Amino acid sequence: MAMQCLRLLANIHNVSKGASIVSRHFASLSMLPDTHQMLYKTCRDFAEQELKPIATEIDKKHLFPKEQIKKMGELGLMGLCVPEALGGTGLDYLAYAIAMEEISRGCASAGVIMSVQNSLYLGPIDTFGNDKQKEEYITPFVYGEKIGCFALSEPGNGSDAGAASTTAKMDGNVYTLNGTKAWITNAFEASAIVLFATTDKSKKHKGISAFLVDSPTPGLSLGKKEDKLGIRGSSTCSLIFEDCQIPQNRILGQPGMGFKIAMTTLDAGRIGIAGQALGIAQASLDCAIDYATKRQAFNQSIIKLQAIQQKIADMALKLESSRLLTWRAAKLKDSGKPYTKEAAMAKLSASETATFCAHQCIQILGGMGYVSDMPAERYYRDARITEIYEGTSEIQRLVI
Ligand SMILES: Cc1cc2nc3c(=O)[nH]c(=O)nc-3n(C[C@H](O)[C@H](O)[C@H](O)COP(=O)(O)OP(=O)(O)OC[C@H]3O[C@@H](n4cnc5c(N)ncnc54)[C@H](O)[C@@H]3O)c2cc1C
Repeated sequence: MAMQCLRLLANIHNVSKGASIVSRHFASLSMLPDTHQMLYKTCRDFAEQELKPIATEIDKKHLFPKEQIKKMGELGLMGLCVPEALGGTGLDYLAYAIAMEEISRGCASAGVIMSVQNSLYLGPIDTFGNDKQKEEYITPFVYGEKIGCFALSEPGNGSDAGAASTTAKMDGNVYTLNGTKAWITNAFEASAIVLFATTDKSKKHKGISAFLVDSPTPGLSLGKKEDKLGIRGSSTCSLIFEDCQIPQNRILGQPGMGFKIAMTTLDAGRIGIAGQALGIAQASLDCAIDYATKRQAFNQSIIKLQAIQQKIADMALKLESSRLLTWRAAKLKDSGKPYTKEAAMAKLSASETATFCAHQCIQILGGMGYVSDMPAERYYRDARITEIYEGTSEIQRLVI
């Protein structure tokens, strides 16, 4: 029912695409196309009812929110930008940015699981995969029962992704994989991996290729689950390949295209992480305002104090400007225009805003901000990762 709801939205969106939408402004939510406003409401309601109530527990116990991810799949959120012909919801990246914000406002762990699935796993297969690969590695993955992951980073190189040391050696009609990938989100639950490995070391980053690997598969083992500062409801671990053989036809795109595939994928992924960061920032602002309205000091509610009001003004300013940057990057991508710089700006601004807002939220809550009875400390821990993965803030500044 809910899935049909989002599919109907996608149809309305497609019909009206060529009409007045392009000329409309995106300065505020109420000016967005109807599709996007309805999606916003669907995601906000879902996050309030299904994610907010479990966010503290899954963080404390490091639990993957399996049931909620399945429901997100039923809503159409686990294949949001995949064409309907492949079973997806067929919405655009603006819709994705909005959905990512609302889901992450409820639970940033669910947000990262959704973003890896949509932009890092499904995105490159949809763009670079052949029909058979799409049928096998996209369609069964859009319903929330199966998820995928994206394995680029290694223990020896994260920012310097072109220095990949994992190898893929072709022999007859198989590739043999050897090496270790590090920090892989969703790896524990994933049924398939978009993997990057070098097929020709002498060509450096131009010798990297992308592959589709089933999980589990002989020759692949998982490292320990990382004990993380935040987003603890999502799993992160290493993937260890030891003479792992995969069929030759699992190469994604052409040999040597891997680095280009990875960079193109990360451009889009940064819009999703910007959305995640906006959600954390908005949750922090909401929490701060709510608390400041109720908390009394010196015979008045602390929200009456200018010192508190100015913090709230700074939070709102950074949040709303980051949101505009994010929507701009998404609109450029949806219009088929270059958006690498704009996506880096959106991710940089939104992630630093998330940390700023979570920091101020703790300050406004005083002692209550520092304990886990309130969500402020979780927002702060969750915010930090948005400045690190899919390119650190230093790397975003280099890109810009
Ligand atoms: C929770 C989590 C989930 C992750 N999920 C995934 C995933 O699903 N898939 C995946 O492939 N990877 C994933 N990563 C890896 C992540 O993308 C990397 O950690 C990140 O890109 C940084 O790489 P690094 O940790 O090797 O740091 P390094 O590259 O060693 O950087 C260390 C410091 O040096 C700075 N630095 C490096 N190069 C430069 C430069 N040229 N100029 C200026 N400063 C520089 C960095 O900004 C940073 O401050 C994840 C990481 C974490 C922590």
